[in-house]
Amino acid sequence: MNNKFDPQAALADTRHEFGEHGGVNLSIEASTTFTVLEAGTMPELFSGRVGPEGGCYLYGRHFNPTVYALGRQLAAIENTEAGYATASGMGAIAATLMQVCDTGDHVVSGNTIYGGTFALLNSYLPAKAGVRTTFVDITDHTSVERAFAANTRALYIESIANPTLDVADIPALAKIAHAHGAVLIVDNTFSPMLLTPTNLGADIVVHSLTKFINGASDIIAGAVCGTHEFIGSLMDLQLGSLMLLGSTMDARTAFSISMRIPHLGLRMAEHSRRAKIFAERLRERGAPVVYPGLAGHPQHALLASMINEGYGFGGVFGLDLGSARRAELFMDTLQNEFGFGFMAVSLGYFDTLMSCSGETTSSELSERERAAARIPPGYVRISIGYTGSVEQRWTQFATALDRMGRLS
Ligand code: PLP
Repeated sequence: MNNKFDPQAALADTRHEFGEHGGVNLSIEASTTFTVLEAGTMPELFSGRVGPEGGCYLYGRHFNPTVYALGRQLAAIENTEAGYATASGMGAIAATLMQVCDTGDHVVSGNTIYGGTFALLNSYLPAKAGVRTTFVDITDHTSVERAFAANTRALYIESIANPTLDVADIPALAKIAHAHGAVLIVDNTFSPMLLTPTNLGADIVVHSLTKFINGASDIIAGAVCGTHEFIGSLMDLQLGSLMLLGSTMDARTAFSISMRIPHLGLRMAEHSRRAKIFAERLRERGAPVVYPGLAGHPQHALLASMINEGYGFGGVFGLDLGSARRAELFMDTLQNEFGFGFMAVSLGYFDTLMSCSGETTSSELSERERAAARIPPGYVRISIGYTGSVEQRWTQFATALDRMGRLS
């Protein structure tokens, strides 16, 4: 497979948006309600016969022009017909799953996914909506196939999994899902620009925009990308999960994020470049590093076959320090002695963020579930930033690591 799609070029094709007075930037449409020129248009809006494609808007929790414009940018980089932005990544994921599934339906999901999504699928949806999930190792396609039942509506995966960095074989998983009449939903939060899941067979893409896409760890946001029909269904006045559960995005937030999309490609390329340098140097030292950009990673060739050229293999790598205590010591030294980065959850920030996954973002999983997901207690997930020089940062990192060696 040689994927020639260039999301940066697709993005340029959406650049027909001007501000209200010819400003080079989008205008913020802050109104929460919209008027019509003729009274007869209102019932048309309520019935869905006219809508944002025709420039007609109804109410801010329904489509808003600024949020809709951000949706078009996101749809361009995800190569989907449509996209819409949400108040958080969880808002996007929950609305999507609620839209795809009805009471009594079933989901097959990867077992290494963000802890909040795991809790949603494992505890919340069965209790609140009667939707059950079977968790499987998505690198084991026989287990994936076996997990499907007659009522399975969706296969849910992360393109590069949080926090293990397992890479999903999207074309193979799409085939399995489609053979069972289910949709493939991909959380592409770890790999915007470098992976375009719908080019590989996925049906719906969800994002936490809180991470790389926003890039400054200052906004909570999410998005769903898919067909016009699916995005429209999320906004249906009777049965739309975004419209009725209400996790749509505010226009001011949409404006802020839309200003960062044009340099997302540059940022992803630099995050990836630095992650690769660190991972290679760690591998040379024999450290237990996990990074899908390394030739030794079990899905390196697979990821290489799926990526769009020019954005690398992602900005996150993992390092197993052996125990949670050692992981804490290591991160303490890096933050408090060297100012290397921050002990904080999340990822995609311009500075480095480090967290011990088992104690934090995967703590929703039991010890047994973490073992099944191959998340060791001392595993530190590192989202590498691009502040400082590479050599300055590497010296800090290597010095802290040498110190850990002397402790063992
Ligand atoms: N998906 C992934 C892969 C994540 O890592 C996260 C948060 O860490 C989410 C979804 C949830 O996003 P948000 O915090 O924006 O709701």
